[in-house]
Amino acid sequence: MYGMKGQSFMESLKRRIEKDGVVIGDSVIKVDSFLNHQMDIAFLKEVGAEFAKRFSDVKVDKILTIEASGIGIAAITAMYFHDVPVVFAKASNLSGDVYETKVYSFTKQKENIIRVDKKYISDGENVLIIDDFLACGSAALGLAEIVEMAGAKVVGIGAVIEKGFQGGHAKL
Ligand code: 5GP
Repeated sequence: MYGMKGQSFMESLKRRIEKDGVVIGDSVIKVDSFLNHQMDIAFLKEVGAEFAKRFSDVKVDKILTIEASGIGIAAITAMYFHDVPVVFAKASNLSGDVYETKVYSFTKQKENIIRVDKKYISDGENVLIIDDFLACGSAALGLAEIVEMAGAKVVGIGAVIEKGFQGGHAKL
């Protein structure tokens, strides 16, 4: 898939991060002008199309993400997967019958419990995990644990920006 001006998606993503990303300290990038606070919908459509291309060989029944930053990305991505439902894990309290696990957020330096209502992931479903960043891998691993608790299958894990120096990829 090719983005604007005939660039490959990776090239336009790289340029966008260089242009609009703000580096905080030595390990955090703020991309909230286009990805996770204000959202550039034309860019998110490119993201969705790129994920669809990369995961074209797997059957996807549902997309799972984590609140809040993953929600917009996952929702637009779902449009490129035949409008499959999107479920987001919640960090707030959820009553009822839930799957839950702990996720350590290194940006907030604290552990959160994330929860998904058991109604929304079912045995045998093929689940694609989508998030904005892959850093140390804790969020993606937590989401994968929830999928496994439900007896469903993780068919892929996609993050818009991978910070390879933080080792998440190796853990997954
Ligand atoms: P991980 O669990 O892989 O360590 O980190 C991924 C999660 O932390 C994502 O859900 C993402 O929202 C947040 N995150 C990690 N690194 C960054 C970063 O550099 N910038 C922003 N904005 N969020 C990040």
